[in-house]
Amino acid sequence: MSKIEKIILDPVKEIQRKTPEKLRVAAYCRVSTDTQDQRTSFDGQVRTYTQLIQSNPEWTLAGIYADEGITGTSAEKRPEFLQMIEECEAGLIDLVITKSISRFARNTLECLTYVRKLRNMGVNIIFESNRIDTRTAFSEMLLTVLAAFAQEESRSISENTMWGIRKRFEEGVTRWCRLYGYEKNSKGEYQIVPDQAAVVQKVFWLYEHGSSIGEIRKYMEARHIKSPNGTDTWCQSAVQTMLMNERYIGDILLQKFFVEDHLTHKAIRNDHTEIPSYYIENHHTPIISRSQFERVQKIRSMRRMQHSRADEVMGACIQYPLGDKLRCPCCGSTLYQRSIPVQSVRGSGWSCERGDDACHSFIMRSNLVEQALLEAYKKLDVNKVCEKLNSPKFGAAAKKTMEIKKENPILKKVDFWWVDDLIDHIAFGAHSKTPREYQRLAALGEDATDDRTVRVYWRCGLITTVHSGVVKDRDHPAYVAECYNNYLKRQEAKKEAETA
Ligand SMILES: [Zn+2]
Repeated sequence: MSKIEKIILDPVKEIQRKTPEKLRVAAYCRVSTDTQDQRTSFDGQVRTYTQLIQSNPEWTLAGIYADEGITGTSAEKRPEFLQMIEECEAGLIDLVITKSISRFARNTLECLTYVRKLRNMGVNIIFESNRIDTRTAFSEMLLTVLAAFAQEESRSISENTMWGIRKRFEEGVTRWCRLYGYEKNSKGEYQIVPDQAAVVQKVFWLYEHGSSIGEIRKYMEARHIKSPNGTDTWCQSAVQTMLMNERYIGDILLQKFFVEDHLTHKAIRNDHTEIPSYYIENHHTPIISRSQFERVQKIRSMRRMQHSRADEVMGACIQYPLGDKLRCPCCGSTLYQRSIPVQSVRGSGWSCERGDDACHSFIMRSNLVEQALLEAYKKLDVNKVCEKLNSPKFGAAAKKTMEIKKENPILKKVDFWWVDDLIDHIAFGAHSKTPREYQRLAALGEDATDDRTVRVYWRCGLITTVHSGVVKDRDHPAYVAECYNNYLKRQEAKKEAETA
C-alpha cells in the first residue's frame, strides 16, 4: 500500500492571482498524428485557448501558436513553437499556456531546457493537465522530478499517463535502491534480512538509550559486526545516516536530492524550503517502529542543539529540553539556559532572569543538572510509583514512568525525551555558600548549613531529592555567576571602547 502526499496545486487559483498590468498570454497547441480525430482536436484546442485567454480580464491574448506534429518531433521541426520562443525572447509574451508537457516538448529534457530558458527571460508556463505553473515553487519540484525520469524516457509520454506523474512515482519507487537491512526479492520489493535488521535495531536502541554515535561505532566494531559497507570498521556517517533513514520505518522520501541544473546533473540536497518532497508512507515492511524513530529524531535534534551552544548566541537563551522545568532557588521563577563563554567554566548553565542580586548570583551548570537528574531517576522507587497508579490524578503519568523505569532502571545519559516527559519541575537548594566557605565555617564550628540539593518533582507525584553535585568551588553557582557577570562587564567595556 502506497500513499502519496502533497498534491500539486490547482492552477486555476494561480490564474486568478491579481497582477497590476494585464499579462500577455500566449497558448501553444500541438496535436499528434496518431490521434484519430486530429483535426477536431487541433481546432478545438485553438478555440478553447482563445476563449480561455479572452475571458480572463487580467489577460490579453498574445497569440495562439499551433503545430500539427508527429509524436516525437523535436523543436527544430515545429516552426510555430520556435516562433513563439522568439517572441518570448523579444519580450512580447509574459505567460504561455499549454495543454501538457508532452505537447509542449518532445521529452522532459527538451521541456526543462525550454522552461528554464523562458523563465530566465521572465516568461512562465502553465501546463494545464499536468497542473504545473512555473510561477510557483511547486513547479520546480515537478520539473525536477521530470528531470529524474528524463533519462529513461525515450518515448513520448502519453497524455493520459502524464497526470500520472504520480503513477510513475509509484513505479519509480519500487525501483530497488540498496539499503542495509533489506534485500530485493523476486518482485523487486524490499525484503528484510534478519541479521542486518537486528543490527539496525541495535543501533537505534543504543542511541535511544544514551549511546553516542562514536560509542555505537565502537560497540559494533568490538563485536566484529561488519558495517553496512561490508568493512570491519564503522564510520560516523554510517551510523548517522542509519539513524535518520526513514526507510527503516517503511516510508520513502523521494527527492532527497534534486538536480539544480539538469545539464550539469549537479545534485543538491533538498532542504525542503522551496522544493517539497514526495513522502510515501508504508511502502515496505519496517524494521524500526515509528514511535522509536520519532524518539531518536528528537534526541538527535536535542544533541545538535547542545553542540551548537555556540558563541554566536552567547548569553542568549538557548532552546533546551527541560526548558520550562527548572526553578530558581531564590524567587521560584523558571531558569533559562545560557552558554557561559568563560574559559574556566566553559559550557552552559541555568540562570534566573528575574529577581534581585541573589538570583543573579545563581547559575547552575548544565552538566550538574544532568548528573543530578540521572541520580534522581536511579533513586526513583518503582514500587512507590506503582502505589500511585491507584490515584486517578496521576494514573497515566505514573504508569508511563513505571513502564520506562522497569525497562530501564538506570539511564547512562539523560534521555531527554523520556526524562522531560516524566518530570513536572525541578527545584534547587539555596546553594548560598561556596564549598570553601562551607569548610571554613564548619572548621570554626559556626553554622555551616547550606542546602546543596536538587529536588525532582515527578509527574507521578513523587519527589526525589539528590545532591546537586556541587563539591568544587568552580562548580558553585555563585562562582559561575561571578565569572559570567565579569565576562558581561568585559564585553560591555569592550563595546564602549569601540564606540568611543
Ligand atoms: Zn530568581
